[in-house]
Amino acid sequence: MSSLLVSNIGELVTNDLSLGDGSPLGLVSDAALVVDGGQVSWVGRRDQAPAADSVIDVERAAVIPGFVDSHSHLVFTGDRAEEFAARMAGRPYSTGGIQSTVAATREAPDEVLTANVSRLVNEMARQGTTTIEVKSGYGLTVADEARSLAIAADFTPETTFLGAHVVPPEYAHDPSAYVDLVTGPMLAAARGHAKWIDVFCERGAFDADQARAVLAAGMAAGLEPRIHANQLVQGPGVTVACEVGAAAADHCTYLSDDDVANLRDAGVVATLLPGVEFSTRSPYPDARRLLEAGVTVALATDCNPGSSYTSSMPLCIALAVREMRMTPAEALWGATAGGATALRRDDIGHLGIGARADFAVLAAPSYVHLAYRPGVPLVGTVHRAGRRID
Ligand SMILES: [Zn+2]
Repeated sequence: MSSLLVSNIGELVTNDLSLGDGSPLGLVSDAALVVDGGQVSWVGRRDQAPAADSVIDVERAAVIPGFVDSHSHLVFTGDRAEEFAARMAGRPYSTGGIQSTVAATREAPDEVLTANVSRLVNEMARQGTTTIEVKSGYGLTVADEARSLAIAADFTPETTFLGAHVVPPEYAHDPSAYVDLVTGPMLAAARGHAKWIDVFCERGAFDADQARAVLAAGMAAGLEPRIHANQLVQGPGVTVACEVGAAAADHCTYLSDDDVANLRDAGVVATLLPGVEFSTRSPYPDARRLLEAGVTVALATDCNPGSSYTSSMPLCIALAVREMRMTPAEALWGATAGGATALRRDDIGHLGIGARADFAVLAAPSYVHLAYRPGVPLVGTVHRAGRRID
């Protein structure tokens, strides 16, 4: 494979403490980057760059690591625009709307579900996302969860079995029988297509003991745990996440002081999903409280047709900065290295030597513009493993 020199970078974000200015973003100005074999092989000042087989001149633009969107629900069909409009007219969000997407998804042929994932993955790529996590959870039968994961696995290795999203209507009279289905036959059908096990531990979904049962069964089957926790109330999800050593607890909107301390002590990433609070007109999580306690904070879209139908990591960065008082640097780190940490990946989310060459060239001189110019399409070209994908 031939080498590629990306030159004339005005500001390069590496997220590598050993490179650049010593800040967490590892900023290098007047920079260049060499890609060889799909990986970063050299980073430094452009006047010291080695020769390569081909050269891209980015004309003083900023270059950032590709976004790592560690939380999405892309395998579905239909939309819930009317529910959104009703919510904006004053109806509160609840977990019940998920059922309408479940009904539509069960009816859809494979090709329709695949086309929907493809459409959203391409939309994400154009906005700078080079790694995505995709959950099942709109099938909620053995066959529909297995096919949802098989479809997701065609697009990403970061697939998550979320049979425990909500209890489907046919089990409303006997939720514990549904948990038995999820932890038994459904898990057996899903495990070959999934890396992660997840559960929606929330009022209206699954309680702490049910969440423990789901995660324990998944872990026994070789899956790694993550969890939807503390979105709507100060519930037990974070406690369960820390007990089992989950990679991440996602949402974290309502936390006790013990929750914050436990996240830090257990090394569980708090993944904040500000598109949800924006789209449900709800209070945002307290990002500063988490950061000041020393918790690792990631940002993700939670792209789904109900509570956050955005595929845009730049929007999440802008919301995190404006609404959650993260600095532009903290927000970019959370959307790249933070997401990688939440997926237990060290080959992505940064542009240090040996990293996969996933990067976006911005139509801006600095990464700060991602928050400073909200809603503006600032992502130019996007590369994954050195190859252009947008
Ligand atoms: Zn979610």
